[in-house]
Amino acid sequence: MSAESSLRADIVEVGRRMYARGYTASNDGNISVRLDASRLLMTPKSVCKGFMTPDMMCITDLEGRKLQGERDPSSEMLMHLEVYRQRPDVQAVVHAHPPTATGFAVAGIPLDRAVLAEVLTTLGSIPIAEYATPSTKELPEAVRKYIKAHDGMLLANHGALTVGSDLFGAYYRMETIEHFAKISLVARMLGRENVLSREEVTRLQALRGTYGIAAPAPICPEPSTAPGTAALGPGPADSATCQRVQAPSGTGQRLILELTRGGARSDGAPGDGEVAPKPSAEPDPPSLAQRAPASFGEVSPKPLAQADPPSLAQRAPASFGEVSPKPLAQADGEIRLTYRELSALIEDAIRSLR
Ligand SMILES: [Zn+2]
Repeated sequence: MSAESSLRADIVEVGRRMYARGYTASNDGNISVRLDASRLLMTPKSVCKGFMTPDMMCITDLEGRKLQGERDPSSEMLMHLEVYRQRPDVQAVVHAHPPTATGFAVAGIPLDRAVLAEVLTTLGSIPIAEYATPSTKELPEAVRKYIKAHDGMLLANHGALTVGSDLFGAYYRMETIEHFAKISLVARMLGRENVLSREEVTRLQALRGTYGIAAPAPICPEPSTAPGTAALGPGPADSATCQRVQAPSGTGQRLILELTRGGARSDGAPGDGEVAPKPSAEPDPPSLAQRAPASFGEVSPKPLAQADPPSLAQRAPASFGEVSPKPLAQADGEIRLTYRELSALIEDAIRSLR
């Protein structure tokens, strides 16, 4: 089988896996690979990625002119072309809409917390490119900001994009992003997200070299120790030159128990959504209801006391059956009790009446 035939078959297989795993619906998603120094092999527009055949692919030049193929190239071709322009090392590009990762993209929450060693050694951080109308030239412009420093990113209110030194490498990064998003969602629903310390992140970065997984850019310095250096640049048009990872200094510890301050921002601004070890003087851990809005990286548009329906974060304790060991006094003097605690108090009161 020639190299081209082999790549056509690989694109068919990756499309089949993406569709089978629910990363795309209908005709969503697109895939491309470099055929040689001046040509790309790309999925055509308006086909379901789960049912492609090798003959459907298009061959284009690096400007997007079709050289071969009965069908027109992907509607997101401009985004692919931009990636190849910015990253000579990239051999393949995969775009899909995996539901959990895309949920983070819709919520404006980047996957940038140092949580899983495997993610840090294969992707580093996963930022969110600003919203752009799909298939317009806005999208490559949004992607340009992050692509030099990242091998995967979320696309605000749209989906995810991954790249690799071969097609399956790019596809596996898409799997990793969706898997990471699912794990992050579960941890945040459970109300606790312990993170790796900055020292551990540095150790893992060194392991990338051992594994032979090159990183497109280093991890940004910790904002508190190097003010200004971790920023992505003064304006939205500037490109990221490092990967911003939320990992606090651990003072010798590899794992930092629980984020105490959430609010991760999609714009990559430093100083927000930072993580810090729990102060020792803090009372018992707050219940999921009290803790969750920050843990989810959510920015509440309104005070919680308003009459709006409760968010999942506020409602979750009953659903998840968590029992706080002790009532926790709120800053406003309010004391919240779990159902079990309230029952115990009522039983005590009944006993004292007898
Ligand atoms: Zn898309």
